[in-house]
Amino acid sequence: MLKAMNPEWKEIPWERALTAASPNVANTLGKALAGTDLGLEEGVTLARVEGNDLLALVKVADELRRRVVGDIITYVVNRNLNFTNVCIVGCAFCGFSRGPDSPDAYFHSTDSLIAKSVEAVERGATEVCIQGGLPRDLNGYYYAELLRAIKARLPEIHAHAYSPMEITYGVEKSRLPLREYLLMLKEAGLNSIPGTAAEILDDDVRRSLSPNKLKVRQWIEVIRTAHSLGIPSTSTMMYGHTELPEHWVRHLLLLRQIQKETGRFTEFVPLGFIHSKTRLFQSGGARAGRTFREDLIVHALARVLLHGYIPNIQVSWVKLGFEGSLACLEAGANDFGGTLMEESISKAAGANFGEYVSPGEFRAMIRTISRKPAERTTTYKIRNVFDHPDSEERLPLEQMPMLAATASHAPSMATGY
Ligand code: SF4
Repeated sequence: MLKAMNPEWKEIPWERALTAASPNVANTLGKALAGTDLGLEEGVTLARVEGNDLLALVKVADELRRRVVGDIITYVVNRNLNFTNVCIVGCAFCGFSRGPDSPDAYFHSTDSLIAKSVEAVERGATEVCIQGGLPRDLNGYYYAELLRAIKARLPEIHAHAYSPMEITYGVEKSRLPLREYLLMLKEAGLNSIPGTAAEILDDDVRRSLSPNKLKVRQWIEVIRTAHSLGIPSTSTMMYGHTELPEHWVRHLLLLRQIQKETGRFTEFVPLGFIHSKTRLFQSGGARAGRTFREDLIVHALARVLLHGYIPNIQVSWVKLGFEGSLACLEAGANDFGGTLMEESISKAAGANFGEYVSPGEFRAMIRTISRKPAERTTTYKIRNVFDHPDSEERLPLEQMPMLAATASHAPSMATGY
């Protein structure tokens, strides 16, 4: 699959791209540039663009990004802690979960998770991102106990932990009310929540992906309650499986509505479906993941529809790869995500973009598209802007041949993708 932005596109100013677009798309993008909130119909128009209209969407999204956050591309130094892969939920799109008797099932001890966290801090991490499967016999207080154990050793680390699905499971297991449960986690050291388990916020689509997963109203309730308690979260969307462009638009407009009420989403992260090792794809229940055209549209659409509300659009390098990530960072996105240090979930579903990007590799890649790297905290406070290249910067090995090949293999604007 082609993943590089056409080099010719880079030189085209957004004004020229807009004049080459069809009148309806140009008019809609003009409204977004003027600060008008776009509605469902306008969003769907943008979600279906091709050719010159796609170019206009990408260019206008990139211009809106420049107006809101400038030319800095941020990243966070963090470590994923996927503490167990044992899970009873059975999502058809998941290649990560295992039954308890599976030979490769694991449940890491609290001591080993503390040791991984300490090692991460020694390597410069400011965040641990804690998520896992849902084992049948999980103690409802385990999530709080793990946070307390890590925070006792590392009080300064930012604990970004537990999806709305896990929090709903903890509520069920502990029989505490949601608000009380979240307060307990906050007191135990929870700093923010990954807004994963959102997939597509449409109950019909969710039924086909995972009938046992929490419903849309439950996802919203966890997020709204967390936000009301001063616990921020990210927001996400999984695309490239069974959904239609209309679902992307409704999903984004719902997130925008929540953000208008709470203001506590730190960012939006599109998550392309990694299909190859999943039951959903293997049983013929989904298309073969997203296309590069969809990657561009979803990132650009998010920038345009969330403009004025959610300032940060993050690329997921484990899903997109490096070249795809850089293309989306020129299509409205402004954040490269985290170093991760280990990544089990996408890899188990068939992704093959490695488990760790060093800060120096992030900085080198960011400079290849003439933008400025900056390290941030989880909540987007800038820790360090890197104005000049340093000795730690080098491109990841996988990236180098792709960059060299970009000029000769890039798709043409006339033929689209
Ligand atoms: S996506 Fe999460 S909840 Fe669903 S099966 Fe995988 S680990 Fe379990």
